[in-house]
Amino acid sequence: MKDKTIICIQCEESFIFSVSEQKRFDKQGFDDPKRCPNCRKKKMKASESNDDSKKRKSKKLHSSRNYYDLDYE
Ligand SMILES: [Zn+2]
Repeated sequence: MKDKTIICIQCEESFIFSVSEQKRFDKQGFDDPKRCPNCRKKKMKASESNDDSKKRKSKKLHSSRNYYDLDYE
């Protein structure tokens, strides 16, 4: 195995897909990455913020439930 140079589909910068990463991807059955580590991080952050909004929504539900419980007592 050798390090691969891949062109990121997002920012079109080339990046190294190292042998150790290739092994890890292969183990998990992933294809070669199409994005550089930077763009992958950005993508992860974007999905994290989506999770945050979900959490906020569930918190709201929770507090309204607590309020209901207090009211009930
Ligand atoms: Zn990129």
